[in-house]
Amino acid sequence: MITDNYKAVERRVEDACRKAGRDRNEVTLIAVSKTKPVEMVREIMSLGVVDFGENHAQELVAKTEEITEPLNWHFIGHLQRNKVKYVVGRACLIHSVSSLRLAEEIQKESEKKDVVTRILIEVNIADEETKSGISSEEAIELVKETAKMPNLKICGLMAIAPPVEDPEENRKYFREMKSLSQEIQNMNLPGVEMKELSMGMTGDFEVAIEEGATMVRVGTAIFGNRQYSQA
Ligand SMILES: *Cc1c(COP(=O)(O)O)cnc(C)c1O
Repeated sequence: MITDNYKAVERRVEDACRKAGRDRNEVTLIAVSKTKPVEMVREIMSLGVVDFGENHAQELVAKTEEITEPLNWHFIGHLQRNKVKYVVGRACLIHSVSSLRLAEEIQKESEKKDVVTRILIEVNIADEETKSGISSEEAIELVKETAKMPNLKICGLMAIAPPVEDPEENRKYFREMKSLSQEIQNMNLPGVEMKELSMGMTGDFEVAIEEGATMVRVGTAIFGNRQYSQA
């Protein structure tokens, strides 16, 4: 069943790329496997998928200990500073950096492990008080600060758009993200390349692709609903 789900999502990604006049290779489809068992990850792996998303440090550790094949594990959730040590060295990309203190902790741990950690700055594009992420202005400042850190590589921006009935409602936010990304790119900060734009989830990934997403994070449409009570 989840194999069929994955294939259906892949077709929708292809259609969205075609509609937007973009090459399919420009968009990475991340299968968000949080709360889902290793067997389900393996089923999707058997299709040749290598990009998976997790949002809890402990779960990332558990899954990477069970699944030792080389995969791209994306860390997409809120990251507490005391959990940074579990994520650095395991995640190929941390999507959710939204404070200087967190960036400093990732820098410290990366230096200790002698690795360069790729990060995205998480922007709270809809200004919802409940959501994580920072304003566009703060994001620009944070990019400037983190650009100085030798063991961090800033690869772009990430956003979680609000849950909406009609994905068209989020188009304006995705558009703002794309223009913020271009604005930062045009600042030509040393070591900063706004290559990735991580936006779009089950409810709105096609619109995100049309507006320039290079990474979409899709959970429910692939793995089904999550049951947090049992997690
Ligand atoms: C859970 C999660 C997703 C996937 O959400 P779906 O709506 O299930 O596709 C994407 N991004 C982040 C940051 C998440 O936490």
